[in-house]
Amino acid sequence: MSAREIIIPVFVPHLGCPNDCVFCNQRRISGALEPATAEDVKKAIAEAAALSYIGAKRQLAFYGGSFTAIPQRQMLSLLNAAKEALDAGLIHSVRLSTRPDAIDREILNTLAAHGVETIELGAQSLDDEVLLLSGRGHTAKDVEDASRLIKERGFKLILQMMTGLPGDSDEKSIETVRRIIALRPDGVRIYPTVIVRDTALFDLWQAGEYSPHTVEDAVNVCARLVPMFEKAGIPIIRLGLNPTEELSSGMAAAGAYHPALGELVKSRITLEKAAELLKGAEAQSHVVLGVHPSKVSQMTGQKRCNIEALMSMYALASLKVKPIDCEKDEILIISLEKAEKT
Ligand code: SF4
Repeated sequence: MSAREIIIPVFVPHLGCPNDCVFCNQRRISGALEPATAEDVKKAIAEAAALSYIGAKRQLAFYGGSFTAIPQRQMLSLLNAAKEALDAGLIHSVRLSTRPDAIDREILNTLAAHGVETIELGAQSLDDEVLLLSGRGHTAKDVEDASRLIKERGFKLILQMMTGLPGDSDEKSIETVRRIIALRPDGVRIYPTVIVRDTALFDLWQAGEYSPHTVEDAVNVCARLVPMFEKAGIPIIRLGLNPTEELSSGMAAAGAYHPALGELVKSRITLEKAAELLKGAEAQSHVVLGVHPSKVSQMTGQKRCNIEALMSMYALASLKVKPIDCEKDEILIISLEKAEKT
């Protein structure tokens, strides 16, 4: 997706999904109550076309369900509406999200014939036990087979994964990332588990059979996963559920729900880099760190938590962060003065 691309989201909540994953209450997450129709698609496209500037690229995105598990008549009616808009130049590309076990060669042929460019697969984990305990209804092999078919057929592939699912661990998440990287997706989304009301996971939690994956847990594990994707050159297009009014006003009952989760993770990664850089700093030193102007708040951390963590880690007398002219991912020690002995 280019920076100037406009996304036209059409939510297909739970429509045709044969499954009931423990964490999912798709209607709540998407904020839409009724499944989309071809008329909704046309209306959304017409509205976006009327509002956007000349030359804007518009991508129609079917989100929120298991698109290719929809009864064929409904799926074709949505795809036909998309194809008409593509042919008329009202949109420039189409993406959709679906389940790994709802992909085969025939379905991919249908999607290609209707101009679909990008397919997002909910992989969630590549550990069979986690998939089983989460009620996903597919295996890790299904994810790998579907991913290969999608790539071979020339679609762009986006894989979604979760952390903190039932039976999950940081090690399992790291192994999932290794296996996702081997599939060479064009991008990934990471969704740490949130306990949404009216889900099986909420009931498990209430029964004491599942411990929430807290924001802190999510930050800890994602600070290990994000650098793996970055090193492999795989863009992370989303980290954490998109905040919605419904989730923020109590529908997210517990778990890793934070409107700025991605920022918290970046800030933790920056803290770890700075901690490495300051290794060996003498107690009571005065330190000034330099970072790119856009990274000052990441280095400082929410409520100065990174500054305080570094000061206590190395018993520093003071620590300041200054914006300097450097690379975006650079952290430099501008000065490190030992405290004068009295
Ligand atoms: S497959 Fe997707 S839509 Fe269906 S229950 Fe699971 S998460 Fe929800």
